[in-house]
Amino acid sequence: MSSVSPIQIPSRLPLLLTHEGVLLPGSTMRTSVDSARNLQLVRSRLLKGTSLQSTILGVIPNTPDPASDAQDLPPLHRIGTAALAVQVVGSNWPKPHYTLLITGLCRFQIVQVLKEKPYPVAEVEQLDRLEEFPNTCKTREELGELSEQFYKYAVQILDAVSLEERFKMTIPLLVRQIEGLKLLQKTRKHKQDDDKRVIAIRPIRRITHIPGALEDEDEDEDHDDIVMLEKKIQTSSMPEQAHKVCVKEIKRLKKMPQSMPEYALTRNYLELMVELPWNKSTTDRLDIRAARILLDNDHYAMEKLKKRVLEYLAVRQLKNNLKGPILCFVGPPGVGKTSVGRSVAKTLGREFHRIALGGVCDQSDIRGHRRTYVGSMPGRIINGLKTVGVNNPVFLLDEVDKLGKSLQGDPAAALLEVLDPEQNHNFTDHYLNVAFDLSQVLFIATANTTATIPPALLDRMEIIQVPGYTQEEKIEIAHRHLIPKQLEQHGLTPQQIQIPQVTTLDIITRYTREAGVRSLDRKLGAICRAVAVKVAEGQHKEAKLDHSDVAEGEGCKEHILEDAKPESISDTTDLALPPEMPILIDFHALKDILGPPMYEMEVSERLSQPGVAIGLAWTPLGGEIMFVEASRMDGEGQLTLTGQLGDVMKESAHLAISWLRSNAKKYHLTNASGSFDLLDNTDIHLHFPAGAVTKDGPSAGVTIVTCLASLFSGRLVRSDVAMTGEITLRGLVLPVGGIKDKVLAAHRAGLKQVIIPQRNEKDLEEIPGNVRQDLSFVTASCLDEVLNAAFDGGFIVKTRPGLLNSKL
Ligand code: ADP
Repeated sequence: MSSVSPIQIPSRLPLLLTHEGVLLPGSTMRTSVDSARNLQLVRSRLLKGTSLQSTILGVIPNTPDPASDAQDLPPLHRIGTAALAVQVVGSNWPKPHYTLLITGLCRFQIVQVLKEKPYPVAEVEQLDRLEEFPNTCKTREELGELSEQFYKYAVQILDAVSLEERFKMTIPLLVRQIEGLKLLQKTRKHKQDDDKRVIAIRPIRRITHIPGALEDEDEDEDHDDIVMLEKKIQTSSMPEQAHKVCVKEIKRLKKMPQSMPEYALTRNYLELMVELPWNKSTTDRLDIRAARILLDNDHYAMEKLKKRVLEYLAVRQLKNNLKGPILCFVGPPGVGKTSVGRSVAKTLGREFHRIALGGVCDQSDIRGHRRTYVGSMPGRIINGLKTVGVNNPVFLLDEVDKLGKSLQGDPAAALLEVLDPEQNHNFTDHYLNVAFDLSQVLFIATANTTATIPPALLDRMEIIQVPGYTQEEKIEIAHRHLIPKQLEQHGLTPQQIQIPQVTTLDIITRYTREAGVRSLDRKLGAICRAVAVKVAEGQHKEAKLDHSDVAEGEGCKEHILEDAKPESISDTTDLALPPEMPILIDFHALKDILGPPMYEMEVSERLSQPGVAIGLAWTPLGGEIMFVEASRMDGEGQLTLTGQLGDVMKESAHLAISWLRSNAKKYHLTNASGSFDLLDNTDIHLHFPAGAVTKDGPSAGVTIVTCLASLFSGRLVRSDVAMTGEITLRGLVLPVGGIKDKVLAAHRAGLKQVIIPQRNEKDLEEIPGNVRQDLSFVTASCLDEVLNAAFDGGFIVKTRPGLLNSKL
């Protein structure tokens, strides 16, 4: 230690005035920065600079004088502590402020204040040498945090420049401390808790440590580690620039006292540098035929996506470079986007790493924190590279549509830099501070919707839509992929559990309502868990199993039903005895494990009175059926709308009412008192229940008209019809988007007929054949046609020709 050269502080220091305690050399303190002066200092000295020099501040204790003007510099205490700012944390609440973590280095005295605004800067003279007290640092820790009554005392200690004087001041305090510790020891004695006692005594041992003496074995170990680190740097294949930085840093590290927070920082940095895969990569193997087989084996259906992925891989093979747009899979959750990304990595023989971007709103999440702060880290890209250990992995940037923005910069801009082939061979993470070549990384992105992807990012990507699955596709996916995977995860074999297709269909229709297969997979997992418990119990128990709750599936307790079928899971008595008998999951077992069905067919029930119609909505999570309800009451012609709605929906509602009012006579629609003026003495309430997603877009127009037509005519809307379409004031039906997802949602809900705008007829081609067979479609160009299809026997008294009721 004695070989350490003294650290020289700069001769000019920016001054931070603190009133939260006195920082002493060697101690660490958190201080809150909220005065204009100090805020300025932090912003211009700490948040802009990167070098060590600029993070040294002069900390001056300051008792705020309420009488003085906050603008003027108060009289300054003559002696202060030069401190290293090791962490800056910013917050905007309740008002803008920073919290600084500062470590005292040594005393200084102010020679002359050079400027006062925007923050004071002074010419200073260093008063003590940094290496004089390396071993006593700990004893003084927290001293600065002594409560107010010790404030004066602490300032006196600060002012005591000569060691002798300082000892005089501090010994009474230390004696008190030791007395306190002794007392603590006494009370613990009877507990015989040796370990804890050693910890309690340890600070005392440190206090009596003679400055300059050799540290214990820890230090030798550390020394060995540093030698190892140095060797690794020498043998590492990192580029020249990085190598230079490492050599410089290790030199600094060797000179640094270990007690300095920067020691650990520098060491962590160097350890990361030698670990990073600067030159390590896997060899691509790409055989398009094999890739096709692999993709087909891993994924059922999704033909369009698989085809596009294969094309992409083929082009890569021929061109042998990665430049070009980034693939972005867009679709509802659980449709296999991540899974396809993983398969791409597998076909190429590359490592795979998923980077979740949902909720990321700080650009340092992508690009890292500057290394001047304690707790600073590299960003997720560099971290990912460290995890996979090669420089050419497949990175799946998950949920790029959920990137946020905040004061800490725009992560989308940082991501752009990562994805841009012109720039990314020189990607500089703030923490590394040297360039890392990302050009070999294959990026794939996923999103639920393109609407919220920042446009600049969207521009870099090629969007591939991944729509939801039909019921039949889901059954196939469950039986080919999900069930075998779940069985394997739970250590079960097909000889132990049997899930027939009707049960899977029950799960799909009555326990889940989703476009993808994520909930389905979870429910299957819950079933496997419950069966695994039964099987395990059966194997270990000779006696009868007791009929108590044994497992939990998806939060629902499993109850054994007395009247359950003998072959179902409910009858567990002889489960283990004939092991060749698989446990059959029938509907009874399903109810036992998953609880009562969550989505019973509520449709006909809800449409059992006038004033309800089913619309189809598109959301980023897939299509959804949407009930529109209306009621009327005495009033003054007011329209009330409730539910999660956007502005366009409100406009659609007004349009619908106007059209109905102008056509009331034609359709014999009357208000409660029999008048054709529908709003006379009448208020209308429209409600769009169910679903947390804000429903906007004009496509509910036809549904609102139908619902109100039902209300004013007193007739029921057919309970098996769903509809979508924009309307005009003149009663025309205009085309809308998301037809495929909407039709799938109607099919999922078990409806039979779907009314769509005529101009959307071409979109029906995209609908899988079996769904088309199950549904009949009405393509309508005007509202008359919609109403005729929505009510049994037609709505208009004389049925008009031109209704196109096609069974496709
Ligand atoms: P996403 O990334 O779209 O949210 P995942 O890739 O996480 O969805 O898929 C959820 C689960 O469903 C995974 O276990 C995946 O393997 C499975 N899965 C989804 N689609 C298919 C499919 N077409 N074939 C086989 N498995 C699928």
